[in-house]
Amino acid sequence: MKYNDLIVGSGLFGAVYAREALDSGRSVAVIERRDHIGGNVYTKRVSDIDVHVYGAHIFHTSDREVWEYVNRFAEFNNYINSPVAIYGDELYNLPFNMNTFSKMWGIKTPAEAKAKIAEQIRDLDIKEPKNLEEQALSLVGRDVYEKLIKGYTEKQWGRPCNELPAFIIRRLPLRFVYDNNYFTDRYQGIPVDGYTALVEKLLKGADIFTGEDFFDFRKNNTLKDGAGIEYDRLIFTGQIDQYFDYQYGPLEYRSVRFETEELDTDNYQGNAVVNYTSADVPYTRIIEHKHFNFGKQPTTIISREYSSEWKPGVEPYYPINDEKNNELYQRYADLAGKEKKKDVYFGGRLGQYKYYNMDQVIAEALSLSEEIL
Ligand code: UDP
Repeated sequence: MKYNDLIVGSGLFGAVYAREALDSGRSVAVIERRDHIGGNVYTKRVSDIDVHVYGAHIFHTSDREVWEYVNRFAEFNNYINSPVAIYGDELYNLPFNMNTFSKMWGIKTPAEAKAKIAEQIRDLDIKEPKNLEEQALSLVGRDVYEKLIKGYTEKQWGRPCNELPAFIIRRLPLRFVYDNNYFTDRYQGIPVDGYTALVEKLLKGADIFTGEDFFDFRKNNTLKDGAGIEYDRLIFTGQIDQYFDYQYGPLEYRSVRFETEELDTDNYQGNAVVNYTSADVPYTRIIEHKHFNFGKQPTTIISREYSSEWKPGVEPYYPINDEKNNELYQRYADLAGKEKKKDVYFGGRLGQYKYYNMDQVIAEALSLSEEIL
């Protein structure tokens, strides 16, 4: 079998590139290690509920081109993410906003909230935050940091907050208005038929080989059944360090384990996302999937998320973009740059070792497509 493009991985990067390549008249094959398409955005319908099998994915973007692009392939609902955080027997709204501050301190006005934060960090004298802890303290003060950030972040990343990069916490908005919308983006929603249907449409017309490990394939260019695949161009969306046989050593990732169960109630926690921010609760959050689609099903499905260090054999979810890993990645990226001569390109969270959101992955895939198609 001969194709113009072989794409490794059927997540959003691979699927968007595939769509663009197909639309420009190229033939496309996709190799996917799992037995289904979609990468980590994969959703599976169970008891009429779209379960976000590899963690909650809420689409949000301010990029109109990206928004219009995804809307060509899926209808989106008007879900707005407004998680709550539970710390012991206290409950707070996220992201950090006037609802959070008013509950934390019994205050009412933005001026009072700002004064409270200023008072809590007066002695610290942080000029330029060097790490996540300093960044968080300087933004929201000690109480919010201790109750809503420290425990959650250390569970999530398995590292102390003063050893983590500041940008991670800047993902979250901080605002002095009563607004619980987790994102500041102009467009937001969840595909009404799930992400798998969206990816299916993107991949329509490609030959898809699931249950095929690229590294097994690479040994002699054959699939499990012995069929050969020839191709001109390779788009690789797996782990970049693995592609280069870990020759400079492995990059670090965080993984997540999900404990998913169906419960005989129609509404377990009253919200799609509830974060557990205290260090003594072993999971970071509980997702109640039906609420992403305003589901009215008689039962519910929940997933507890447990964060762990990645090791071979488990799924990588989050690159750890600290200095050490970013430097190592840069060495792999230099190798990747040289592969361009061979018509090999890297993309996605794993291929580019970046804590990308979905819209950024799509924008990257579209910009690569524009460049090379
Ligand atoms: N975070 C936190 N408390 C929370 C939620 C988030 O401290 O209740 C911090 C934590 O460090 C986390 C980061 O904010 O890793 C980014 O959160 P986000 O919700 O963007 O993470 P994702 O959904 O990508 O896992």
